[in-house]
Amino acid sequence: MTGPSGRTLEIEPRKRIGLVAHDNKKRDLVEWARYNAPLLMQHDLYATGTTGTLLEREVGMTVTRLQSGPLGGDLQIGAMIADGSIDFLVFFWDPLEPQPHDPDVKALLRIAVVWNIPVACNRATADFMIASPLMTDGYERLLPDYTAHVERPISGT
Ligand code: PGA
Repeated sequence: MTGPSGRTLEIEPRKRIGLVAHDNKKRDLVEWARYNAPLLMQHDLYATGTTGTLLEREVGMTVTRLQSGPLGGDLQIGAMIADGSIDFLVFFWDPLEPQPHDPDVKALLRIAVVWNIPVACNRATADFMIASPLMTDGYERLLPDYTAHVERPISGT
């Protein structure tokens, strides 16, 4: 689809939300999700393995569970963003502890920026995002134009 400033992707009112929290931030995410459960349950939820198990067990949410983050779950969510099948990411990453899968964490944060996905990395941002009227409306997400990158000349070819 083409919008006023380039291609856009229509985000439906029912959003596909990725949820990920590092171990020291899982309590935060569970509390946030419990508080916002009525709203979150109107959307399709995808989570890394352990985060998803906690959301199911402690909040009673229906969540599509992917692999645990360190086993590839962050990359699965990243791949879904690249595919256009995740609209919105809540990723409470731990700023104080190195993770065994730090490269995957960086990859997930990076691909969310590449595709102009809204990302909340802490509770305050998540609160602002979930309070937005855009949560329950459709939204035309601008897709950055990567034509110059895709069609760049490769020397020797
Ligand atoms: P987990 O993964 O939900 O399986 O713990 C989260 C992460 O560390 O990326």
